[in-house]
Amino acid sequence: MTVPGGLLARLRRSVRLKLLALVLAPLLIGVPALLGLVWTWGNQAYERLVTFKVSSDLVTAHEYFERVRSGVGRDVQAIADSSQLVVSLEARHDAAFAVMLEDLARRHGLDYLLFLDVHGQAIAGSASDTAVPVGARQDWPVVSAAIAGSPRTTIERFSPESLAAIKPELRTRARQPLVPTQGAAPDTRLAEDRGMLIQTAAPVFDARGIQVGVLEAGVLLNGNLDLVDRINAIVYRDGSLPLNSRGTATLFLGDTRIATNVRLFEGERALGTRVSSAVKEQVLGRGDIWLGTAFVVNDDYVSGYEPVVDGRGERIGMLYVGFLEAPLRAAFHAAMAALFAVFVLISALGSALCLRWARSIFEPIERMNRVMQAIEKGEAGARVGPVSSRDELGRLACEFDHLLDNLSAKQYELQRWATELDHKVAERTRELHETNESLRRAQRQLAMSEKLAAIGELTAGVAHEVNNPVAVIQGNLDVLRDVLGPAARPVDEEIRLIQEQADRIRQIVTKLLQFARPGDFAGYTEAVNVNEVVSDCLLLSSHSLEKRDVVVETRFMARTPVEINRSELQQVLINLILNALQAMPDGGRLTLASEDWLDEHGGVQGAVLRVVDTGHGIAPENLATIFDPFFTTKKESGTGLGLSISYTIIERYGGRIGVTSTPGEGAQFEIRLRRDAVFDATPEAQGFMRRWQQ
Ligand code: ADP
Repeated sequence: MTVPGGLLARLRRSVRLKLLALVLAPLLIGVPALLGLVWTWGNQAYERLVTFKVSSDLVTAHEYFERVRSGVGRDVQAIADSSQLVVSLEARHDAAFAVMLEDLARRHGLDYLLFLDVHGQAIAGSASDTAVPVGARQDWPVVSAAIAGSPRTTIERFSPESLAAIKPELRTRARQPLVPTQGAAPDTRLAEDRGMLIQTAAPVFDARGIQVGVLEAGVLLNGNLDLVDRINAIVYRDGSLPLNSRGTATLFLGDTRIATNVRLFEGERALGTRVSSAVKEQVLGRGDIWLGTAFVVNDDYVSGYEPVVDGRGERIGMLYVGFLEAPLRAAFHAAMAALFAVFVLISALGSALCLRWARSIFEPIERMNRVMQAIEKGEAGARVGPVSSRDELGRLACEFDHLLDNLSAKQYELQRWATELDHKVAERTRELHETNESLRRAQRQLAMSEKLAAIGELTAGVAHEVNNPVAVIQGNLDVLRDVLGPAARPVDEEIRLIQEQADRIRQIVTKLLQFARPGDFAGYTEAVNVNEVVSDCLLLSSHSLEKRDVVVETRFMARTPVEINRSELQQVLINLILNALQAMPDGGRLTLASEDWLDEHGGVQGAVLRVVDTGHGIAPENLATIFDPFFTTKKESGTGLGLSISYTIIERYGGRIGVTSTPGEGAQFEIRLRRDAVFDATPEAQGFMRRWQQ
């Protein structure tokens, strides 16, 4: 048997198939093996049974045949002992004696009855033509025994001549033409003309007890159909054979059927047919009994053959009984077929039950397998669900679900942790970023402070030195005008110019000093409404606004006052407004806006001010240096101090100032001022400031 590759592969992968194969293998291998054994044993038992049956049939037939034989002997013995015979012997009327013998023979069913003298010479006989001398008969074993005083009965084979000597009719009756028979030993004769007889002889005594002769009788068995029919009737009584089998009985002389109820094809008795050479050799040749199946005339018969032995111990024929095998064999086969069918049915039912059962046993495992595959495909919610089985596998499936639930809970927890961790990392990163920012700012401030410190030192000295001569110039100019009076009129214009330039020098020096010593200019702080300050600044710079074609827009939304020195805030805003106007020489829009400064939680920190213009904007490379002192793009007209002073002022109160710009579109300055000023927001810068101011 070959197992297809696909099935083998499935067998390797599936536990159910493996265990199923394990359970079914004994059934599928055992049942055919059992059937084979049952078939073999059944055959053997059948053979033994039929052999036993035919053997017992043969015994019965033998017993009956013996009874018939001894019955003939007893009959003749009784005649020999009868007074009728003794009286007749004494009367010695030969003719009457022969008639009496004839009568006795007929009455007792004997084919011949002879009276012999004590030497074995036939004196009288039953045959009508006893004129024919029968001769001396002492050579027959039965006769010699009777002469010796003992009655004896044997089966004997008579030659045609000896039959004819007794009675010519016997020879005729005995003659049986041979019928050619398949499988028989070759025989050139055309007929069996010998006779087989039950021969018996009994001593005859006179009234004084002296033996006066011997009574010899015989019954011809050739064609004795009555005998075989009786044997058959006794051995195979009606109903003794099952299923339409037919019993048969036969007497053989040599190998030829001389009395039989075996029928030929036409229903005629198979007289003259012969036994197979195998049976002949075993039974007649070796003297063994044959028991088994033999082909008889035209069919297989379960047969029993035994040799028939004559008075000299010679095998002269056979006794046979048997019955037709085909119906029995058919019944046996039918029984076997029924048995096989039952086996096959039981196996099929068993297999089907096994399959069903296995399916119910493995249902939880298969469902678990499906769930695993679903989970591999990403269906995290796949579960085995309730299973009907309450055995270990059923409990395993429940545990499996439980395990999966635990696993997803853990996974969910892990995910939550991961998200939390991500948030924390992001928060820390942001904090780090902010720290970096403030660090950078601190660095910038530090750098600025250092610069301011250096510049401050220098500027303060220079300013002092310049202020005094300027004061002298201005003082002397006034003196000059007073002294000259009208004489100064022709140079009035020059004096005015000198006066103007001296003022400008004073202004620059004041700015320088303000930058160098901002503390000197700072006044007290107060809660300032930024909207009011912006409005004031607009007023203060109105003459500059009027010169240009600039539209001013205000959006005051701040509600929170901030802590700062009002005039310093004004200074910062005016500086930003003027810068914006200078960036829009051909006009544009100036927007001034304010709003509350809210932290991420919505808490009010202070106020935001925005000064937005639509001017030429700031080049990106300048954005980083715009708050540096002395940075200017305005050549002679600019000092580069406005933004750096504004930066210093705002930072001093803990505020912020920043700028964004798109070149060609404008710039936006944003100031953040605290509701409560924080003066030590940048301790390093404050430290430098203080150090520098001292
Ligand atoms: P000054 O105005 O004397 O040059 P500031 O410190 O006020 O000095 O300004 C520094 C420089 O910043 C200016 O020279 C100018 O180039 C640039 N700047 C300031 N405000 C603006 C603005 N609103 N638009 C374009 N550039 C500006």
